[in-house]
Amino acid sequence: MHEPTPIALSVDIEDWYHSVLGLSEGDWERVPDRVVETTETLLRVLADGQARGTFFVLGHVAARHPDLIRRIADAGHELACHGYAHRLVHRQTPEQFREDLQRSLEALDRAGAGPVRGYRAAYWSITREAAWALDILAEAGIEYDSSIYPTRTPIYGIPDAPHDPFRLHTPAGHSLIEYPPTVLRFPLRNLPIAGGIYLRLLPYPLVRAALRHCQRRGRAAMVYIHPPEFDPAKPRIPMPFAERLLHYTRLDAMRVKVPQLLRDFRFAPIGELLDKHIPRDTLPEWSLSSHP
Ligand SMILES: [Zn+2]
Repeated sequence: MHEPTPIALSVDIEDWYHSVLGLSEGDWERVPDRVVETTETLLRVLADGQARGTFFVLGHVAARHPDLIRRIADAGHELACHGYAHRLVHRQTPEQFREDLQRSLEALDRAGAGPVRGYRAAYWSITREAAWALDILAEAGIEYDSSIYPTRTPIYGIPDAPHDPFRLHTPAGHSLIEYPPTVLRFPLRNLPIAGGIYLRLLPYPLVRAALRHCQRRGRAAMVYIHPPEFDPAKPRIPMPFAERLLHYTRLDAMRVKVPQLLRDFRFAPIGELLDKHIPRDTLPEWSLSSHP
């Protein structure tokens, strides 16, 4: 039997406060930084599991901690872009989005990242209404995007988008590769299984069975994790109940589940998967317009 395609391992490098919706860039100076320690914890976990992945780095982190970015690259991981200020794309104008993208690419460049091929939006927030953002990414030379979640939630998701990597044709006629996080198809909803809150909450045997199911079907799966999810002691500030659940539930889980995943599956960075395992000319094609 031939080896299944390795699973794409993706990491969003951001601090605990970047994804708190009630805090904006002006507040960030007033709260403690933990990203260096939490990223180093994560780097040790990945080194122990001999796994390499794609690190989507927030520009704000690259600007403040260029040494950390170099350590990530020195460990053999791929560097990619997570925007600068961690704002919802669908609440920005195209001009604001373009500026945030440029600012983040410049911060990565100054940190010595070299050419960057991939992009992931904050909160997976390239929705159908924000499809224009894909044109801006393509114009900036981004080769692959990983911002479209093929499910439905209050702030992100395009439920009818393909579940596996595909060539995406944008509203203005550009094209780039889209690499989605893994979902399983169920009658009422596509169920996310392999990252963030979903990975923290689902029992590990279920996650493993779901990923094996994907591999048997020849699917290219993707897992995503964040350094603050490895930090049970991260600071607590007032926030709405649902958001608190998202940020603080089962922060003990990742230090156990990620090493289990690394023992049970082979992983690779997205760029390497596109170069070696997933021939670009065989990718299915899909066009995204602003309306379904
Ligand atoms: Zn993020």
